[in-house]
Amino acid sequence: MQTHDVDSRRAVDELKELAELTGGPDGARRVAWTDEWVKARDWLTRKLEEIDGVEVERDEAGNLWATAPGDSEKAVLLGGHLDSVPNGGWLDGALNTIAALEVMRVLAPQQRPVTLRLVDWADEEGARFGRSLLGSSATANVLDPDDVRDLKDRDGVALPDALREHGVELDRMNESHGQLENATAYLELHIEQGPVLERMDYPLGVVLGTFGVERHAVRFTGQHAHSGSTPMEVRRDAFIAAARAAIEFRDDAARRDDVRATTGFVNVSPAIVTAFNGWCEMSLDQRALDATVLANMLDVAQGATERISQEEGVSVEWERLWRIEPILFDDELIELAEEAVSAVAGKSHRLPSGPLHDAASMAPLMPTVMLFVKSLRGLSHTKDEDTPEEDLELSVRALHRLAVRTIDWAASR
Ligand SMILES: [Zn+2]
Repeated sequence: MQTHDVDSRRAVDELKELAELTGGPDGARRVAWTDEWVKARDWLTRKLEEIDGVEVERDEAGNLWATAPGDSEKAVLLGGHLDSVPNGGWLDGALNTIAALEVMRVLAPQQRPVTLRLVDWADEEGARFGRSLLGSSATANVLDPDDVRDLKDRDGVALPDALREHGVELDRMNESHGQLENATAYLELHIEQGPVLERMDYPLGVVLGTFGVERHAVRFTGQHAHSGSTPMEVRRDAFIAAARAAIEFRDDAARRDDVRATTGFVNVSPAIVTAFNGWCEMSLDQRALDATVLANMLDVAQGATERISQEEGVSVEWERLWRIEPILFDDELIELAEEAVSAVAGKSHRLPSGPLHDAASMAPLMPTVMLFVKSLRGLSHTKDEDTPEEDLELSVRALHRLAVRTIDWAASR
């Protein structure tokens, strides 16, 4: 494959065009399964249909596919999502899709050894019904319809009814798995949504995978009593135990390489000024790219709460709220991505992804990699989300270069 240049400026102009069409001073409003989202997709469909040799279709899960056939049916996929959170940013998901559109424009008319496809996933954000990666998990054939059947939006509309309004039958969504029959590789560009690349002064990075997560509620039980009458040395203060634990969780994560530990909620009882607390419940959300490291972090945290509980005269109980394994991207595609990023930006940084992305649905099924472009101040899911235009242009060129390299790589497999 030859590397004709993409018009990266046009991609930025089209991002602005889309932001104007389906956003405003309060941010993007392309919430999946709403009229604004349909408007955005009609816009994209028109642009895709203007490309010679590209066929556009929708699958059973409501995902939008554009296909440019090649000499073989083996396909390289470029993924994105036009849907946004309410009052969202102009780049989250839209950049991926519009950069992929631009890459299609350049590569679709050329003879290629393999097929090139763009997929605009339906409902990545889960903004209306609370279930993210809906379209891509259906296509991965891992969506259990019963898990989401009873979900309702704020107005009481049930998910299956909203889907039906958009021509999607919940119980048939997983049939979209057929779209992956010849899929050989999956590529996705995304804004970082965090501060790492900006702080290190890298415009672009290569994503190694998405973090595994261990999420627990930790409950300490002591005995509450009067703040005046109870001497310090006899107290069984559950809040103090939790506070000490939170510091230990934080310090353990800080000692390690590129992991996270967060205490999000803390609840106490009786929560009055004249007593210390006999009961305290806190959350712990731990994330790491390496499953062994993640398991060890959990061990260390549980050991710490045992020790602290003994010292504070309280008991402790753990309840797992949620977990997901780390998802690692493909080593060979990571190499290709690094080459592409270095070629257009002069340097490249490897980093894990904190948030999940549709790429996490695809990675267990085929070689997958993602590119990140810097986010200013690490902001996302807000109208203040931004990236310098010159970096957006670099990201479009990097995706193009990566697509070209991946097409050759796929042909040789
Ligand atoms: Zn996104």
